[in-house]
Amino acid sequence: MKIYNTLTKTKEEFKPRDPAGKKVQMFVCGPTVYDHSHIGHARTYVFFDVVAKYLRYRGYKVTYLMNITDIEDRIIDRAQRDGKSVKELVRIFEKSFLEDTKALKIDSVNKYTRATGYIKQIVKQVETLLEKGHAYKIDGDGYYFDLSTFPDYGKLAHRTANQAEDAISRIDESVNKKNKGDFTLWKFSKPNEPSWKSSLGTGRPGWHIEDTAITDYHFGSQYDLHGGAVDLVFPHHEAEIAQQESASGKKPFVKYWLHPGFLTVKEQKMSKSLGNFITIKDALKNYSPETIRFMVLSNYYRSPLDYNDSVVNQSQAAVQRIAEFIQKLSLANGNNDFEISDYRRKFEEAMDDDFNTARVIALIFDLTRKVNSMLVDNSLNRNSAKKIRKFLQNINSVLGIIPAKQEKIPDSITKLIQKREELRQENNYEEADKIRAQIEDRGYQVDDTVYGSLVTKK
Ligand code: AMP
Repeated sequence: MKIYNTLTKTKEEFKPRDPAGKKVQMFVCGPTVYDHSHIGHARTYVFFDVVAKYLRYRGYKVTYLMNITDIEDRIIDRAQRDGKSVKELVRIFEKSFLEDTKALKIDSVNKYTRATGYIKQIVKQVETLLEKGHAYKIDGDGYYFDLSTFPDYGKLAHRTANQAEDAISRIDESVNKKNKGDFTLWKFSKPNEPSWKSSLGTGRPGWHIEDTAITDYHFGSQYDLHGGAVDLVFPHHEAEIAQQESASGKKPFVKYWLHPGFLTVKEQKMSKSLGNFITIKDALKNYSPETIRFMVLSNYYRSPLDYNDSVVNQSQAAVQRIAEFIQKLSLANGNNDFEISDYRRKFEEAMDDDFNTARVIALIFDLTRKVNSMLVDNSLNRNSAKKIRKFLQNINSVLGIIPAKQEKIPDSITKLIQKREELRQENNYEEADKIRAQIEDRGYQVDDTVYGSLVTKK
């Protein structure tokens, strides 16, 4: 299988580091828990859920680790604003995040780790960097990574040394730094901020060091796969490379780097600071988890996905279509076989091609179109129907887009919908509109989408 690697800017054959080629160590940057997560976060975490599940489907033994950033400037600011302690605040939003991931059926992570659970390992890594001459102290401020000691800086983001200089990460503004882009490893705390006593002095960790301390502890100094949305390439992941490769002297720190694109609104990143966000909790009030997952997976992960009502309604209709199709399969009672093996091969080919879930979805609809015509003339036999259902369940164990239960639409409404479809196919829009009015009078709504009509209770 092939994976696009940000480090080499190419699709590479996937070969885990494990000599037996079986074990995969995977780490994804988790949220900074100072607010509820939004559907932009959902895009990133649903995608990586699918990555872990597909690798497991392929027989790899994946250990999937995710950190939770529970100490950071934005957390401290929010706690002060809300009149809460940092600990109280982070527990609220950590719980909220874990509820959201569970609701979205993101259940592939083996272990969540809190940054503050690894202070000992963080201090040890900063000490190693000091001993090896990669870090320095600024009195009254903290410890910094010295970028002049790491000529490879910029290799992930493919930046030149000059561009790399412009690094500004979250708490790195000191005027006394040796190089403009040097970033914080350990920050001496101000009064009223959370702090830890250590050999470095009383303080708190910088943002980048938590990840490398955690992965060094669980995976060692090198591992297979690291991800986060595209905004983390620089400076965050670049800084991680600098820290870990300098501390261990081994490269590459990570073999494959994966960076999904943003969920956007009117082409702007969905973000808390722009105020253009919908929380996962709010989205789930109106849409099923399968609809949200479908929306995320209907797009190639590296391209931006622009969110709007039409995209999410189309996803809802598609999920409804697939669920209806599976129900109809149970009625099969004909005499003809349908060969599914070709579809299985195409599913794996699409996923092996850098997790091309959009192609898998097109494949599912190609399958439903072909099989539907056999269901209409009752030619599909039961055994084939069973195999098709099994195949869709296999796909679903990776993508999670088929609801266990379908919203029950009364038969009388389904019949009206079918009649309206037929009239529309005959271009008889006047009569079709009359039927739409009848459907609406009975408390249902029809929206036309690329996946057919979407029927919902008003
Ligand atoms: P944060 O809590 O801001 O540190 O973000 C947690 C993760 O969600 C990171 O991998 C971010 O890059 C990712 N993320 C944040 N906003 C979006 C968005 N609009 N689309 C996709 N991923 C996002």
